[in-house]
Amino acid sequence: MTTASTTATAQTEVQDAGHVDVLIVGAGVSGIGAAHHLREQFPGRTFVLLDAQDNRGGTWWTHRYPGVRSDSDLHTYGYRHKPWRGPSIAAGEAILAYLDEVIDEDDLARHIRYLHRVTAASWSTEDRRWTVEVIRGDTGERLRFTAGFLLMCQGYYNHAKPYRPQWEGMDRFQGVIVHPQQWPEDLDLAGKRVIVIGSGATAATLIPAIAGQAEHVTMLQRSPTYFFAPPVTDDLAVQLRALDIPEEWTHEIMRRKFMAQTNLLARMSTESPGELHTLLVESMRPLLPEGFDVEKHFTPRYRPWQQRIAIVPDGDLFAALREGTASIVTDTIETFTERGIRVSSGAEIPADIVVSATGFTMSLFGDVAFAVDGDPVDFTGHVTWRGIMISGVPNMAYVFGYFRHSWTLRVDLVCDLLTRLLSNMRDKGATMVTPALRPDDADMPLLPFVDPENFNAGYVMRSQHLLYKQGDREPWTHLLELEEELNVLPKADLDDGTLTYS
Ligand SMILES: Cc1cc2nc3c(=O)[nH]c(=O)nc-3n(C[C@H](O)[C@H](O)[C@H](O)COP(=O)(O)OP(=O)(O)OC[C@H]3O[C@@H](n4cnc5c(N)ncnc54)[C@H](O)[C@@H]3O)c2cc1C
Repeated sequence: MTTASTTATAQTEVQDAGHVDVLIVGAGVSGIGAAHHLREQFPGRTFVLLDAQDNRGGTWWTHRYPGVRSDSDLHTYGYRHKPWRGPSIAAGEAILAYLDEVIDEDDLARHIRYLHRVTAASWSTEDRRWTVEVIRGDTGERLRFTAGFLLMCQGYYNHAKPYRPQWEGMDRFQGVIVHPQQWPEDLDLAGKRVIVIGSGATAATLIPAIAGQAEHVTMLQRSPTYFFAPPVTDDLAVQLRALDIPEEWTHEIMRRKFMAQTNLLARMSTESPGELHTLLVESMRPLLPEGFDVEKHFTPRYRPWQQRIAIVPDGDLFAALREGTASIVTDTIETFTERGIRVSSGAEIPADIVVSATGFTMSLFGDVAFAVDGDPVDFTGHVTWRGIMISGVPNMAYVFGYFRHSWTLRVDLVCDLLTRLLSNMRDKGATMVTPALRPDDADMPLLPFVDPENFNAGYVMRSQHLLYKQGDREPWTHLLELEEELNVLPKADLDDGTLTYS
């Protein structure tokens, strides 16, 4: 895999790479989904997808640690148009294979340019186009594309730079420290004592996958997370498939089932958080070894769903704890030692390998430097338009999925709105559309990207100060909840005075 650190740096003259109607940044589930919608609705438009990595899939290409899998069901993580035929919770490889099918069916391969890192994008009102600067990861060549519309599908984190907290004594540790985002392909776990630092989805996925190979795996968490243990294969999907009905029907029914289930959990998390807390914690108790200290290790201190609920399909993490191939320590790290990690209680956990499952470095718009008519854009002073466009930035939209529901549900919804927007521009003969605050909006309070009361995952909290803002009213909000957006986005008035066309 090519990363920023291996990127060639040869300085060459900027080459003109041509003009497209729409330039999509990112070839993950968002970029591939957006390209599908664009092809369907505007077969005549030219487009290109640029991705800094050397392959498709974004998250699923970057994360190839043992056991990597989805933590939401694939019926809703899959696209609306393409039935998911596998088990409800899927391995990363199966998701990549699904994306490959979409690329084939939509003939997208010829539109994708890998190892193309977008570094800058400048809008010119006079020319009615973006000029997009790119560095090639293989040759170091610098390219310049121009585009009528920019679609940012870059995800939310830096793929080349995982979040690595620094702890005292790390330099004297004699073993190996790895991050799941950059998993070494040849890492030999046989007979090794492994500590996985972290308690989120990655730790919960990785631990059962390596517990059988390593001598022992210790999950070292500062504080507990909520877990939920659904079956890998959903019973309803099995029953529907046995009826030999079209896969499209099964897909739609399963999507409705999972949307309703997640809506219910989302509602409970705000309306009756105590009840949901008890339900989640108590659902873990019977899966754990007898006498296990559930209060200490599996009773989170935050309200359910202020952070993602981690999925443990078929309870595999709990099975590893029952079998004794994995154990759990809830404590803070005092220092790394030569032989492991000493925690605040004074205990030393021995380790040959430490996995730092500590999350992401959030990246705003792929760290692309934006300018509009020569002025650099400082996004912290701008407001989102429905979590899709940014005030004062013309002909640019971004695809940002759900935190709680499957990310991809929002890809389809946002793309429906965007194709409607492009049609509206065509019908008006407009070549430029810019979200702009109405006079009444000028004094509205500006709120953070995410309300920490609602969602406060570490990677978001670490970077709120770098992000654009929300207002206190529609359409200057990023709604986040599927239930609301299913009603609001399809009906959103594109001529309500908050979008300026010319
Ligand atoms: C291990 C793991 C499991 C997850 N499981 C789930 C799940 O089950 N359900 C769920 O809803 N969500 C899940 N997520 C969240 C996940 O990130 C999203 O679901 C989704 O993959 C995001 O897709 P994306 O295409 O928007 O962005 P990404 O997958 O992040 O892909 C973005 C692509 O854009 C490229 N890019 C970024 N900046 C630039 C640039 N400047 N120039 C060129 N290219 C650029 C990157 O190289 C990357 O390939 C998971 C995340 C992780 C890490």
